Amino acid sequence: MDTQLTQSETDTKSAAPRLRNYVGGQWVTPQTENYLDVTNPATGETIAQVPLSSKEDTDAAVAAAQAAFPAWRATPPLERARLLFAVKARMEERFEDFAQAVTREHGKTLEDARGSVRRAIENVEVACGIPSLLMGYGLEDGAAKGIDEDVVRQPLGVFAAVCPFNFPLMVPFWFWPYAVACGNTYIIKPSEQVPTSMQLVFEELDACGFPPGVINVVNGSKEAVDALLDNPQVRGVSFVGSTPTARYLYARAGEQGKRVQAQGGAKNVIVVMPDAALDETVSNVINSAFGSAGQRCLAGSVVVTVGAGHERVRDAIVAAAGSLTVGNGADEGVELGPVISHSAKERILGYIERGEAEGAALLLDGREAATEQDANGAFVGATIFDEVQTDMTLFTDEIFGPVLSMLHVDTLDDAITLIENQRYGNAASIFTQDGAAAREFRYRAPTGNIGINVGVAAPMAYFPFSGAKESFFGTLHGQGRDAIDFFTERKVVITRWF
Ligand code: NAD
Repeated sequence: MDTQLTQSETDTKSAAPRLRNYVGGQWVTPQTENYLDVTNPATGETIAQVPLSSKEDTDAAVAAAQAAFPAWRATPPLERARLLFAVKARMEERFEDFAQAVTREHGKTLEDARGSVRRAIENVEVACGIPSLLMGYGLEDGAAKGIDEDVVRQPLGVFAAVCPFNFPLMVPFWFWPYAVACGNTYIIKPSEQVPTSMQLVFEELDACGFPPGVINVVNGSKEAVDALLDNPQVRGVSFVGSTPTARYLYARAGEQGKRVQAQGGAKNVIVVMPDAALDETVSNVINSAFGSAGQRCLAGSVVVTVGAGHERVRDAIVAAAGSLTVGNGADEGVELGPVISHSAKERILGYIERGEAEGAALLLDGREAATEQDANGAFVGATIFDEVQTDMTLFTDEIFGPVLSMLHVDTLDDAITLIENQRYGNAASIFTQDGAAAREFRYRAPTGNIGINVGVAAPMAYFPFSGAKESFFGTLHGQGRDAIDFFTERKVVITRWF
């Protein structure tokens, strides 16, 4: 907890349910004695207590997943797909419950939460095509006359996902439907800050008919993660979270010879050219910078205007951001919910203070909007700085809150150079009506995801969720064909008959 508990919060806490793990087809109470409070960041209410599973608890889940692997691997892909069709149907039925659970534990608006549940389901829909996706390829006489050569895709065993707080329900779905469809077994480790929506998901998965051990959830934090990284039966790990943890996990799991895909932090730039369509640009920037309270890895947190028109764009963005309604994301009409916790709020306020001290011009101060909200909620209003320099922390650091930095350059080349010099490479967007400028941007900007007149460049499930530089460690990304490659081994068969 970030704050001292009041008497009423203590009372709420005692009523908060203790979450369990889902292992081998059963809900199990882990052996650990360590539990953490899970709070609704809009109200400060304790909504659950999450177990911090021990190494033994985690190893038990790996053993269950390993035991389930041989029979699951031998289940025809079409039958595996049928279970995913059942997942899709049950998720549609619980759609609204899922969205509300996400808003309650994370704080984002219901509209944002619904969007994330939709994206989760889309990954199930794509994985339903596994009989086609899993096909190999071959060539008669491929090795020599009378010697054929074929490639088949085979699953490897137990895989695991270590997930961040900012998309509690969606991120596990970037991975597990593909892994399981390919014939692997799976363990999800949700963020300990937002573990409740995954409990609802597993209520539904439990009813879909997966054999015990095929899919499991282990709640916890570092000890559980390290147990997954060190267990030799875990063949690969998908990670989404901050860059320092991504780097750590990539090294530790890689040392053990595991497959790793580790998506890290971000600092995404939106370039606005002088010919950009103003209204559309502004509404996209507002959604990108302040949607989900700026806690998206695809959030545009820096706007770079090029050439003429900086003041026009800046003033329109400040006016639109200043009129956002801050409040509980569960309430109708709210556009900007709380950040995830009081400690996150303190960190973000620290960045605002530092931005002022470093000499940036504070045009919109979210600290004031924040004080008008419920004292127990972790609110920060939309904040905008102008005249930001590339050596300021406002430009270099991922703030992960509703803070937008603006700066101005003379040419598109200057804007691209600025992106090239960043340590992160998750996403970058350009707003323009000029095809040549857009082409130059997509060709040169060194980020994994590019938006052209799109403020949040989020790839659909059938495309890889890319990322570059310190935003991604690995080779194969989540989603799409990359996912099938990550979760299978390509075995080559060379055949000759005498
Ligand atoms: P985080 O790194 O603090 O935690 C992520 C996960 O790692 C959690 O499950 C946590 O329990 C575990 N973890 C944390 N520290 C650990 C340690 N020392 N050892 C082992 N495990 C550890 O990240 P977060 O704050 O939950 O998520 C926000 C971050 O995620 C932001 O940086 C954001 O940009 C990033 N993110 C990136 C993407 C992407 O696609 N690149 C998507 C979503 C979020």
